[in-house]
Amino acid sequence: MNLPKHWQDRMEAGRFPNAVLLIGEKRDEVSKELAAAYLCVGQHPPCHGCSHCRKVEAGIHPDLIRADTADAVKVDPIRALRTDAYIRPNEGDRKVYLLSAADLMNANAQNALLKLLEEGPEYACFFFLASNPERLLPTLRSRCETLRCENVGEETMEQMAQRNEFVTLLLQERQEKMPLLSLCVSLEKKSREELALFLDQSIEQLAAHLVQNPAGLFPKLEALRTVRAACEVNIGTGHLSGLLMASLL
Ligand SMILES: [Zn+2]
Repeated sequence: MNLPKHWQDRMEAGRFPNAVLLIGEKRDEVSKELAAAYLCVGQHPPCHGCSHCRKVEAGIHPDLIRADTADAVKVDPIRALRTDAYIRPNEGDRKVYLLSAADLMNANAQNALLKLLEEGPEYACFFFLASNPERLLPTLRSRCETLRCENVGEETMEQMAQRNEFVTLLLQERQEKMPLLSLCVSLEKKSREELALFLDQSIEQLAAHLVQNPAGLFPKLEALRTVRAACEVNIGTGHLSGLLMASLL
């Protein structure tokens, strides 16, 4: 399963957060892809061709360390992990620790990890996989960037028509307010994942017109990007579409 487009872009730009919280039903598959990206030496990580990508794929990369559920829940294995984290990577520039059921860790274990995140070496990266992220301490959650791992289906014809209408409205030199307003209101009905996809595709479509009218389109693109970034946070789509409306009108 591929990484979401904005994560892919981020990896290509060399931005690798030290702590990632992976939630959603596809988190196992996505964590493997993300680990490959973190360890890859190719130009477009994960390239799936370099020796690092292949070792991750085969489950034999020495710098990808899995701390599995049963062992990771107590504080002792976390202490062992702490010790290990101070040993430099074997082959790559980073070491990736994958905690497959992070939400089962008790508070002591979570605090030990938090301390490691704050004080540990920069090459150590942690993926927290959780089916119930609410069980993680807020202090730990706030240190993580969240990656939602869900199957977002292909756009339906109706969704595509809605996106085309949205982009057409944004391309107007003189913005018609009412149709844009009612379109923004209709976005409330989407789930956060659907809204994120809608914005990703609208941004791409709108950016293709940027050369024709940079001064007019740049602020609109920025507004879309801001709301897109906010989709990663736990905010309802009612608020997100309100934010979109306020930034566009
Ligand atoms: Zn690679």
